[in-house]
Amino acid sequence: MKRVLSSVAISALLYHSLSPAIAHEAHVHGVGKLDVAIDGPQLTLHLDTPLANLLGFEHAAKRPKDRQAAQKMARQLRDGRRVFVTTPAAECKPISIKLVSAAIDPLLLGELPAPATADASVKSGHADLDADYVFQCANPEKLESIDVTLFSQFKGFQRIDVQMVTPKKQLAAKLIPTAFRLSWE
Ligand SMILES: [Zn+2]
Repeated sequence: MKRVLSSVAISALLYHSLSPAIAHEAHVHGVGKLDVAIDGPQLTLHLDTPLANLLGFEHAAKRPKDRQAAQKMARQLRDGRRVFVTTPAAECKPISIKLVSAAIDPLLLGELPAPATADASVKSGHADLDADYVFQCANPEKLESIDVTLFSQFKGFQRIDVQMVTPKKQLAAKLIPTAFRLSWE
């Protein structure tokens, strides 16, 4: 498969660290954001996505049907090795996965209960999900690519914008359902 990484996108990196107001505008259904960092044996990934991409809805998951859907989604996301398929020889294993969404009871996501907070994003009719993954790689030098299978597992994703940092470089990439491999050298 062809490499999908484009050149360094400094402007995108800067954009990412700007105010929450601007970050909020990045809530576009169909589009997810993925930050990837490789540091020694550790691979960390942060996914920020409209909940609609994963569930097809963004209202608070209160009805039994919605709660079931949220639990199913969490089970899929917690199968880290299936969500992010790394180069087998690198032997990367997930050591931590954390899921957070204002619209969903943390217990449904497999997290500890959180103190109740008023949340503007749900009141606005939109909600996101944040997923943090940490992988530990036995042979990080052999890590060459990551297949992002969110597209096949969740029909709501049309594009995932990736920002990646390795000890050697920073990269930006756009993944789509037909080009979901993130690769680098
Ligand atoms: Zn939305």
